[in-house]
Amino acid sequence: MTNKQLIQKLNTRGVLTKDEFVCLLSSYNRTDAEYAQKLAQKIAKAYFGNKIFIRGLIEFTNICRQNCYYCGLRAENSKASRYRLTKDDILECCREGYPLGFRTFVLQGGEDPHFDDELVCDIVKSIKAEFPDCAVTLSIGEKSRNTYQSFFDAGADRYLLRHETANSEHYSKLHPKTLSLENRKECLFNLKKIGFQTGCGFMVGSPHQTVETLAEDLLFIHELQPQMVGIGPFLPHKDTPFGREPAGSFELTLFLLSLVRIMQKNVLLPSTTALGTIHPQGREMGILAGANVVMPNLSPVSVRKKYMLYDGKISSDSESAQGLEELKERFKKIGYEISVSRGDFRKG
Ligand code: SAM
Ligand code: SF4
Repeated sequence: MTNKQLIQKLNTRGVLTKDEFVCLLSSYNRTDAEYAQKLAQKIAKAYFGNKIFIRGLIEFTNICRQNCYYCGLRAENSKASRYRLTKDDILECCREGYPLGFRTFVLQGGEDPHFDDELVCDIVKSIKAEFPDCAVTLSIGEKSRNTYQSFFDAGADRYLLRHETANSEHYSKLHPKTLSLENRKECLFNLKKIGFQTGCGFMVGSPHQTVETLAEDLLFIHELQPQMVGIGPFLPHKDTPFGREPAGSFELTLFLLSLVRIMQKNVLLPSTTALGTIHPQGREMGILAGANVVMPNLSPVSVRKKYMLYDGKISSDSESAQGLEELKERFKKIGYEISVSRGDFRKG
């Protein structure tokens, strides 16, 4: 089968075999990527028109008890300057975002023990009480099923937890022994069962990644059927064990975004900050490859540079919620506009 035929098969069947994915990922060329991009864009337009959903990202703590080898927030990075926002700070961010048009707030952070279940639930309830027409997304790592349930009962709508890699050997090369793929998958299935709109995802070009592990990532996405998928290039952070590893490929990230859109037609797919960091037009090119979500930064300016997952992470005007006008202009140039709505997942 040619690569074009494999892409067409993915479009009609929603999945390929592992061997077919490996074949496609190891031999695709520019023409194949362009074909996938056009198809992905057409699908995204059929489901979402020319609308891009925006999420206000509040990076509320960079304190983390985990030690993922790739991440600048890892506990053992003694050079990171640590901060945590208070509940009032977080509510202030929402108050700033709401009049700008944000109807989803994403609370993301390290696994910070200060934010115990009670405090997280209190923050979620307070946001929902003040902004009843907004969705709250949490992205605060691995928790027990009971804890996830309490977050859901408090009113949280969505949860982002990238699986990072669906190959257990690869997983153990990216994380210390305290973390396992088995538990990560269990968390994701629990989140779905509880009723969260659930997001998984992975970095493209993470150290030790191969076309085989990427094929397994795509198969896992098919198995989980998440409502959201986060994909961005791996970018090194100098004070981590992977500080000297090369960054992931921009082109491959775009191709994978297109493949995910073709597979899971109605999925909520962000054009990530990492994509915007690796290329000046990364956000736009992610949209043109099939993405339909962007997550501008709503964190207070004073802490923005401290949430350094990788070197060079952008926090320029058009990355910030306050620079939304600039972002609107950039999207207008490629024929898209921002939607002021919660932007929930809709069954296809
Ligand atoms: N602590 C939570 C977690 O791990 O799910 C949420 C915050 S964590 C910083 C969010 C995501 O950042 C991770 O899932 C990972 O994929 C991404 N990330 C971390 N380090 C990165 C790097 N060096 N390059 C690109 N993405 C990175
Ligand atoms: Fe902590 Fe998340 Fe970074 Fe891992 S990826 S070190 S859990 S913030």
